[in-house]
Amino acid sequence: MDQETLEQTRQTLRRYVRERLVPLEQQVAEEDRIPDEIRAEFAGMGLFGLSIPEEYGGLGLTLAEEVELVFELGWTSPAFRSMFGTNVGIGSQGILIDGTPEQKQAWLPKLASGEVIASFALTEPEAGSDAASVRTRAERQGDHYVINGTKRFITNAPHAGIFTLMARTDPANKGAGGVTAFIVEANTPGITIGRHDRKMGQRGSHTADVIFDNAKVPAANIIGGREGQGFKTAMKVLDRGRLHISAMCVGAAERLIHEAVSYARDRRQFGQPIAEFQLVQAMLADCRAEAYAARCMIRDAARRYSAGETVAMEASCCKYFASEMVGRVADRAVQIHGGSGYIQDFAVERFYRDVRLFRLYEGTSQIQQIVIARQMLKQAEAGTEA
Ligand SMILES: Cc1cc2nc3c(=O)[nH]c(=O)nc-3n(C[C@H](O)[C@H](O)[C@H](O)COP(=O)(O)OP(=O)(O)OC[C@H]3O[C@@H](n4cnc5c(N)ncnc54)[C@H](O)[C@@H]3O)c2cc1C
Repeated sequence: MDQETLEQTRQTLRRYVRERLVPLEQQVAEEDRIPDEIRAEFAGMGLFGLSIPEEYGGLGLTLAEEVELVFELGWTSPAFRSMFGTNVGIGSQGILIDGTPEQKQAWLPKLASGEVIASFALTEPEAGSDAASVRTRAERQGDHYVINGTKRFITNAPHAGIFTLMARTDPANKGAGGVTAFIVEANTPGITIGRHDRKMGQRGSHTADVIFDNAKVPAANIIGGREGQGFKTAMKVLDRGRLHISAMCVGAAERLIHEAVSYARDRRQFGQPIAEFQLVQAMLADCRAEAYAARCMIRDAARRYSAGETVAMEASCCKYFASEMVGRVADRAVQIHGGSGYIQDFAVERFYRDVRLFRLYEGTSQIQQIVIARQMLKQAEAGTEA
């Protein structure tokens, strides 16, 4: 996309987010549901296909372009983004990166248009951070695999048309090499979706267990056609996903800063707006400095990713810093609101709960620290430190 079109798209999205979505936030939180017409509007704007190439009907944005739009999306409740987030990220990218030409043709146009929702099913009751230890079993029987197991906390599972499923095809190999990625149609007999998880926040976006009980999946649905590649596929998807989530954190931080500044200018104590107290200003300044730092990091890493560089360590640095940063910003925004910050009529109360998730999924903060430190030690060993 050329710079001018990108800037126009960003401005359009900015207006849409602020004028159309922000007024719906409270309703979405109360009803735990995004109105149907919003899904149609997202589809009309091409949001389901942000990262899918134009030849499959998507917008084909580079990651550097995508993060500029995600900074805008983060301004509103993250539940809105979740509706198309799995199609843009973890649900579609495995097919895009490692899928066969037939798999790409079959699914990417439907994911790009929003006709089909894709979910990414990796986590299990006994396999979270240690994702390579998945136990869900895919056993070959002729030209099919029979799947048994339970996946946990799967975003958009209740709405999914397909799952990108990680299952163990080689029980003798307990590690990553025994895991294979499949495209599984959600209406396959033997699949049951659990009840919606009752989450701390992000109401309007839904996660649930997905239970596989002798679900038969054609062997042709292995992503890329080869067993044992699934974990590698999942890891390739994560760098992009982590930068996308980091950009969401910056958008949310900007919204929280906006709410905090507005409140501080209006609220008067001791005969003056609280914004004039330097202790309040210090909290505002800390928010601005940290949000700015995160934005710069993400832009740098996304640009390097788009130029073909490997940025696994930088993506983890961004996810770690940005998700922790927005937690601190949300905490300060609540503090600046005083008692009102604890009351549900104020957006900061909801955002405080919503942004907590960013430190947990797509790799907890501790997992990001491990990825970063491992890479540092490897570089030291090789004598290639920055
Ligand atoms: C709302 C929501 C949506 C989600 N969506 C999806 C989805 O769409 N698809 C999907 O597959 N998964 C999804 N997840 C799952 C999510 O990715 C996992 O919850 C996450 O990876 C952590 O795994 P866990 O919950 O099992 O925690 P655990 O791995 O049990 O971690 C518990 C604690 O131990 C720490 N810990 C674990 N290992 C280490 C270590 N080696 N060193 C130091 N500390 C460690 C962790 O950092 C954490 O603090 C979602 C989760 C939530 C809550």
